[in-house]
Amino acid sequence: MSVDAFIEDLLAGKPGDAYIYGAWTEAADGKRFTVFDPATGEAITSVADSSAAEGSAALAAADAAQEAWSQVPPRERSRLLMAAYDAVVANTEAFARLITAEMGKSLAEARGEVAYGGEFLRWFAEEAVRIDGRFGTLPNGRLRMMVDRRPVGPSLLITPWNFPLAMATRKIGPALAAGCTAVVKPAELTPLTTLALAKVLEEVGLPAGVVNVVTTTDPGGATGHLLSDPRLRKLSFTGSTPVGKMLLAQAAEGVLRCSMELGGSAPFVVFEDADLDAAVEGAIAAKTRNIGEACTAANRFLVHESVREEFVARFGVAMGALRVGAGTQEGTDLGPLIDERSRERVHSLVEDAVERGARVVVGGELPSGPGHFYPATVIDGVLPGSRVVTEEIFGPVAPVQTFTTEDEAVALANETPYGLVGYVYTRDLDRTMRFVPRLQFGMVGVNTGVVSDPGAPFGGVKESGLGREGGREGIDEYLEYQYVGLAH
Ligand code: ADP
Repeated sequence: MSVDAFIEDLLAGKPGDAYIYGAWTEAADGKRFTVFDPATGEAITSVADSSAAEGSAALAAADAAQEAWSQVPPRERSRLLMAAYDAVVANTEAFARLITAEMGKSLAEARGEVAYGGEFLRWFAEEAVRIDGRFGTLPNGRLRMMVDRRPVGPSLLITPWNFPLAMATRKIGPALAAGCTAVVKPAELTPLTTLALAKVLEEVGLPAGVVNVVTTTDPGGATGHLLSDPRLRKLSFTGSTPVGKMLLAQAAEGVLRCSMELGGSAPFVVFEDADLDAAVEGAIAAKTRNIGEACTAANRFLVHESVREEFVARFGVAMGALRVGAGTQEGTDLGPLIDERSRERVHSLVEDAVERGARVVVGGELPSGPGHFYPATVIDGVLPGSRVVTEEIFGPVAPVQTFTTEDEAVALANETPYGLVGYVYTRDLDRTMRFVPRLQFGMVGVNTGVVSDPGAPFGGVKESGLGREGGREGIDEYLEYQYVGLAH
């Protein structure tokens, strides 16, 4: 069956299964769970609700496939990844419809995700053939040193719901390129896109067991026991900081290699010399990309007091012009939030800021009707300590605060346990070179509101995580050094 027919079937309500050792597999007890469209609240289809038995079977499959996969020549691993890239791109429209259906983002954004997500497969197809080591003589002259790089081994890849395709390819791409096999555990809110990606991998001829997908509403029950199973060697997780911390603690048991992409609270700093048109454009991108449901989303707008009034006025107009609607509707800028719990939380952050004296410039009201929609919202004069600046918003809400000196901007920007990304708008190169190194963030955008790119190392410091995804660095997370001392 072709990939687009597979996707059409899911969209038409045909149940999906887990994918284990090259077979589409129901849960042993026959349990299934429903996947909903966040724009309508209606069911799309159901998928297998796997439990510990399927988790174990998936790891057994990954373990059984590991040695042979690590011996597949890099050029062949590369070819398979490139074929998967081609197949994803060829099925852009079908993938976009599936992403919009289960996650809610507009079709335009979903097509953007297919391009971005697909690119990780191509990027790592290219990296697969460039894994190098080094050779030398040790200082004592007695041994020659050969440093090889070996695949870490079977990896558990846990992904979130906000980028159902890209978060999967960003992990599967480097894992396969490095010669690792994988058990993928997609988010329970958006498992369908990962199943379609597994279909792509099956169609291009990836050997059975190299990638296994376990769908479940009980992630702890289905995969928790794998973390202490000696066959598992690696955990890569993208999700919330509390869950990430808990998994890190569990991963200590098996001393697993861990890559963690956790929460963020990005500052968006606008200096008095910024190009304000560009800053507003960047602010819209940094705030509303993916409906604000991105760990890279600008979470705190820090604006120099001399340009605050003008920035807020222009930003408010631009945010107010964004169209809220179903992702399938032509011209939609902001699709629905993922679920009702999420929408209530976002709204409560706005209410908390207003109770403390902040002013709503635009938005801030819960729309009526079905779907978990929330309007683009700007709130000015937000007091420090308000939940909207201390918590990760994950919605299209922009709180504005002001500063007067560079030192104050640094202090405010860094005043968070997170350290994923920061954005800075200034036309002063000296200031850029002075200011950026003082920011405690793994990524910094200067005069841009979007930094994510498969060719760049994505990742954070502090409680935003460990390791990097994408870039030349991304494959390192799946490789282990092996030093060989050669007497001569
Ligand atoms: P979010 O707020 O994005 O839903 P979560 O951290 O809850 O963030 O979810 C991210 C991913 O982590 C999802 O795939 C989810 O199923 C998974 N997850 C949540 N709890 C656990 C757990 N105890 N063990 C393994 N995976 C988990």
